[in-house]
Amino acid sequence: MNPMKRLFLLLSILVLLPLTIQARQRPLDIYFIDVEGGAATLIVTPLGESMLIDSGFPEDRDAQRILHVAKDVAGLTRIDHYITTHWHRDHVGGILLLSKLIPVKNFYDHGIPATLSSDINAEQINAYKIVSENKSTALRPGDEIKFLSDRSIPRLRFRILAANAVVVGEEAGAPQIKPCGDDFKPMEEDKTDNANSVGVLLTFGGFRFFDGGDLTWNVENKLVCPKNLVGPIDLFQVNHHGSSNSNNPTFVRALKPRVAIIDNGPRKGGDAKTYATLKSVPEIEAIYQLHKNLATTWNDNTASAFIANDDEKCQGEFIKVSVKPDGRSYRVEIPGKKIGTDYLVR
Ligand SMILES: [Zn+2]
Repeated sequence: MNPMKRLFLLLSILVLLPLTIQARQRPLDIYFIDVEGGAATLIVTPLGESMLIDSGFPEDRDAQRILHVAKDVAGLTRIDHYITTHWHRDHVGGILLLSKLIPVKNFYDHGIPATLSSDINAEQINAYKIVSENKSTALRPGDEIKFLSDRSIPRLRFRILAANAVVVGEEAGAPQIKPCGDDFKPMEEDKTDNANSVGVLLTFGGFRFFDGGDLTWNVENKLVCPKNLVGPIDLFQVNHHGSSNSNNPTFVRALKPRVAIIDNGPRKGGDAKTYATLKSVPEIEAIYQLHKNLATTWNDNTASAFIANDDEKCQGEFIKVSVKPDGRSYRVEIPGKKIGTDYLVR
């Protein structure tokens, strides 16, 4: 090796070594930010790369809450990747204000429809086009978003399993309702943009996390029948804020989550029927909620120690999941209540 090459190699090692050591000690963090019945899930990898899935409602409150977690808690100076799972205001609403507060680099979605259905607000689509500079990537089932990786951390993969009401292996435009399974009773075709939600599976070593946005009943069934495309998972962001036209019991049972987190609001989502479904899944050890559902009884809510915000007037407390650097266990915390529990990866 010539002296210049040797010097370059030595310098590379000296530069990369501290990064590698740092990554080895850092967890994969997932923050479930309270946007009062919308969705905003922030992922920060051990190498410091970030992904925000959904941005809450078009209100300063939500942009500020996301900024607080991203900047003050996670120490980020920018958001590397932003996915809007679908075009409803409780998912895409916050991105315009947020992008004025912190730089957002790459944008992903299920595609901007040529003609907008009545449940999609044109104003929000226009705002999104401006902040993404018309350079968003339309995701298709089977796509994968690549994260920075190196040998010091377990393998990190981010796969798209559903988008535009089709799942991996289906042709674009395949029917939403596909009879499959003995106990599957389809619901009426969901014509809202919920059914088009991007559904993602994040894996980090043995840890598996599914976020299906607001996917509904019929598409959920296609994700697990005839083939279980998701597989058993550790962590489940309960679909559609815990609404009962989502979270088909066959689907939830097939996922066998150990921990379920409902991103509900005080009077939105967290339906009693969904709570009963989650309770009936033997593998689920803990159910967390961003809010106590004030529209139902205590029996339809998880214990207060697993609820980030008990009262309607709240501080917007978040839930944090930290996957250990070896990807073998994780801790779920409600920092506002100083409560945390450790779980083993399945
Ligand atoms: Zn929603």
